[in-house]
Amino acid sequence: ELVMERVDIFAVTQVVLAILRPLIQNKGLHVENSIPVESMYVHGDVNRLQQVLLNIIGNAVKFTGEGSIRIGSRSYINESGEDMVEIAVTDTGIGFDKDQAEEIFELFIQGDGSVTRPYTGSGLGLAISKRLVELHGGAIYAEPLDRGGACFTLVLKGYSGEERVSQPGPVAADTGTGMFFEEQQAFSGTTGDPEITKPEPEYAVSMPMGSTIMVIDDEPVILRVLEKSLRQWGYNVITASYGDEALEMINSGAVPDLIILDVMLPRMSGFDVCRAVRERFAPHELPVLMLTAKGKSRELQTGFDCGANDYVAKPVERSELHARVQSLISLRHSVQYAHELSIMQHDIDLAHEIQQTVVLREVPDISGVNIAVRYVPADQLGGDYYDIQKIDDHRIAVLIADVSGHGLPAAFICAMLKVTYSMHLENEHVPHKLMKRINESMYNFTDDQFVTAFFALIDLKEKMIYQSSAGQWPLMACSSDGSEVRFVESKGVPFGWVPESNHETDRMEFFKGDRLILFTDGIVELRNADGQMFWTDGIAEMLQNKRGLSCNDFADSVIEKLGSWARHDKFDDDVTLIVIDV
Ligand code: ADP
Repeated sequence: ELVMERVDIFAVTQVVLAILRPLIQNKGLHVENSIPVESMYVHGDVNRLQQVLLNIIGNAVKFTGEGSIRIGSRSYINESGEDMVEIAVTDTGIGFDKDQAEEIFELFIQGDGSVTRPYTGSGLGLAISKRLVELHGGAIYAEPLDRGGACFTLVLKGYSGEERVSQPGPVAADTGTGMFFEEQQAFSGTTGDPEITKPEPEYAVSMPMGSTIMVIDDEPVILRVLEKSLRQWGYNVITASYGDEALEMINSGAVPDLIILDVMLPRMSGFDVCRAVRERFAPHELPVLMLTAKGKSRELQTGFDCGANDYVAKPVERSELHARVQSLISLRHSVQYAHELSIMQHDIDLAHEIQQTVVLREVPDISGVNIAVRYVPADQLGGDYYDIQKIDDHRIAVLIADVSGHGLPAAFICAMLKVTYSMHLENEHVPHKLMKRINESMYNFTDDQFVTAFFALIDLKEKMIYQSSAGQWPLMACSSDGSEVRFVESKGVPFGWVPESNHETDRMEFFKGDRLILFTDGIVELRNADGQMFWTDGIAEMLQNKRGLSCNDFADSVIEKLGSWARHDKFDDDVTLIVIDV
């Protein structure tokens, strides 16, 4: 669902460039945003367009080793008489073959599909961008340039509706500190109730409640007005009158989720404050929203150069401020930055979809053995994976794994783990050799993530478990009377750490009537309100005290216990539990 409004393409591009700044500087690329300031508007959803531009400009940065990136625009009227805006991103990078120009917009397609490909990525960004642009009624296309490099062009509908014009306040707008809300009189209590002055537009962006915003302005009236509005919208507010005072607060631990900063501050300018903040925090870690005087494009440029994420011109319109604050707060909470920019947390639904297709649906039926599995994915999708297979009439193979990241990247790694695991399990049952092979197949694709895993081959005839670990908690066994809980600690590094990993195969005997249990971090590291982890002690205790329960009831009682242990009403990480009664 798009939330359509007037979108200033220059400003969105600046926000994207601010996010990408560390990468751009790292590569020493020259970047030019030649979109005119405050005059190129499209009709669109600002968050989605930001996502698209982040993908396209992010790709330009990724695929350009040296040289420059230029972002330009032009407006024109199409054959149907509609105002259109064209945005072109050109780079001097590796380019692609002409016949790939359409293909690269397809899901999971990467221009160079070779195994030795030096670029990480998923082949998803452009497919998502294309859909988003088409949802806007626009188009996107790509072409390689003869002189090398690529050009990506976005065509969007121009904004032709009524422009929102904010009224200057009762004090001249441009007196340096003279920033006024159009409704300031109402807010300061002289003319009625502020709550009913104007209906607020609805925003589709979800706003994490309880976010804290720091407002820095030396004008006490403006501070009060802003504080009141922000509190009404459900935010916590910290205020500071001077930049140095604010920085002191931040350095002593009062780190907000967003800073709203007046550029014209006495003692230390807003620009200097912004620069100081950027020394410690990246734009997505602590966004800065500048308050600037209207029409001061130089000021704006300097602000962005100092690392501001966005700006609102004074006098500030309430709904505009609300929208900007919301989008920056959601940027703060949603950009999963790491090194992979094309994948955003916005695509979490897709991650859930992928994960759903990856996780096992049915547990194999094995005579004389009862198996219960509980898998509770966290909202952010923690990347747990498990698999249980019957190898022959007396052997069961069990794998439980946990990917370090979450969201889409984790879902992809899970999908890859599924494929490599089933492929190797066909010919290799010796646990440490199997683990080594999985690591070899996955090492080049895990990027900066890793996977912890535990594999167990349960031999019902020999009453022996052959097991191997890749940095994962070991399997625990509990005797039928509940008197004894045993496990063998196995060494082995997670997949993705080193190209040639060494794992071991350990043996553990079991007895008829034992209960075996495998679990992931989400259980062990679950914290209660006092910050205490559930830990393996919590699991051992349950195994002993609830031994009388059936396999299924036991699994349920563990999940129930975790639910009451957790400090939040949801789990922070995926929770996976496998109970096997042998
Ligand atoms: P990803 O970057 O994650 O692989 P995308 O869908 O964003 O996925 O891009 C798909 C493919 O298009 C990339 O793998 C790359 O081959 C090609 N591509 C995208 N942008 C550029 C660019 N600026 N220069 C060269 N190739 C590009």
